[in-house]
Amino acid sequence: MQQHDTQELRQQDSRHHLHPFTDTKELGDNSRIITRAEGIYIYDSEGNRILDAMAGLWCVNLGYGRQELVDAAQQQMQELPYYNNFFKTAHPPAIKLAKKLTELAPEHINHVFFTGSGSESNDTVVRMVRRYWQLKGQPEKTVIIGRRNGYHGSTVAGASLGGMAPMHEQGGPMLPDIEHIAQPYWFGEGREMDPQEFGLLAARSLEQKIKTLGVERVAAFIAEPVQGAGGVIIPPESYWPEIQRICDHYGILLIADEVICGFGRVGQWFGSQHFNIKPDLMPIAKGLSSGYLPIGGVLVGDRVADLLIEQGGEFYHGFTYSGHPACAAVALRNLELLEQEGVIDRVRDVTGPYFARQWATLASHPLVGEARSLGLLGALELVADKGTMARFAPGIGSQCRDNCFQSGIVMRSVGETMVVSPPLVITEAEIDQLVTLARRSLDLTARQLGIMD
Ligand SMILES: *Cc1c(COP(=O)(O)O)cnc(C)c1O
Repeated sequence: MQQHDTQELRQQDSRHHLHPFTDTKELGDNSRIITRAEGIYIYDSEGNRILDAMAGLWCVNLGYGRQELVDAAQQQMQELPYYNNFFKTAHPPAIKLAKKLTELAPEHINHVFFTGSGSESNDTVVRMVRRYWQLKGQPEKTVIIGRRNGYHGSTVAGASLGGMAPMHEQGGPMLPDIEHIAQPYWFGEGREMDPQEFGLLAARSLEQKIKTLGVERVAAFIAEPVQGAGGVIIPPESYWPEIQRICDHYGILLIADEVICGFGRVGQWFGSQHFNIKPDLMPIAKGLSSGYLPIGGVLVGDRVADLLIEQGGEFYHGFTYSGHPACAAVALRNLELLEQEGVIDRVRDVTGPYFARQWATLASHPLVGEARSLGLLGALELVADKGTMARFAPGIGSQCRDNCFQSGIVMRSVGETMVVSPPLVITEAEIDQLVTLARRSLDLTARQLGIMD
């Protein structure tokens, strides 16, 4: 095993490395250096073993250390490490992956456009949606409606579609003709109402927005089936059917951002299958390759693909790494393994329900106002008062997150919400361990606050 000089690495990191989504000054030379991983565990340069309850960044669905994926990359890199799919060429890994993906996708989806990431997928969505309406002879339909606190990536288009206020505040202006509506966040914004009524209300804010803008201007609605980065916000059951009804009624395109929910996270191949909706476009990435190599794409429904193909001529859009052969080979192998090992059925029938029961036990903790989950996505709402659900001062989430690392588990904090998204191969015994470590982190936080002794 390779030896690492932690101090030296930290100093160099601090001196030369601008981290994503990080206060570099605050971090200083304190970064935790992750050096290897196996199964659901990561190891740092000081030898600590940490249960990765976030599957990296919601992506390592098959877990770490899968030799089959390493072999797929190696074989492909020896045979054809790079070629593109521009200008009348193609290569076997991209073709095979396209076929496999469209077999797994709902019936009305038969094409995929490859990208290198989720953000690039959503950039592609913006251009494709606007191009679609241009070809339909309605070029004034340019507005895409997203949601407050939605996350669609970090490029200009991704950040604009997303509804993360702190992102919009930095380095604007954002893209024009993007609007945002309410999120279906019952615990945070609708607790005084019945959840199903609140779900309908949140969905109808889409209808309101369409009416305000004028339907002749509205091109599409984009949302994550379950908001991930916004805090694992699981919409009430009434929400998605009403959204589908509104999109159908006004004839606007529906985009389900499947970057997190895709590839088994909620116990189906795609989150939209769980919620029984029929999106025109599905951006994908993350779990597509279990994060082993960077690859994304947009699954394109027939309504859009047929028009683009039949009437669009050349689409002046694409990335050097669209369908990169090594990435595509790894993604294909990843999908085959998910299928052969029955990983997604297990999430639906076994580990998802088991996780739901164990995770729910955390609701009795003095700091927890709500414990919710769907498939292998979970969230805890930290509250100062379980009667009124009053929140702590900001900072409690990141304090709890630090305590997670201390306790040997990675959870993520989103404001006052703690979230998890473990590898889909997690066993029941490992789920027990996850919940025990989560509880230990909460206890540590409660003690620091003087709430427990
Ligand atoms: C992570 C994420 C993205 C962005 O993907 P990148 O690969 O980081 O560009 C887009 N949409 C959703 C829902 C995501 O979770």
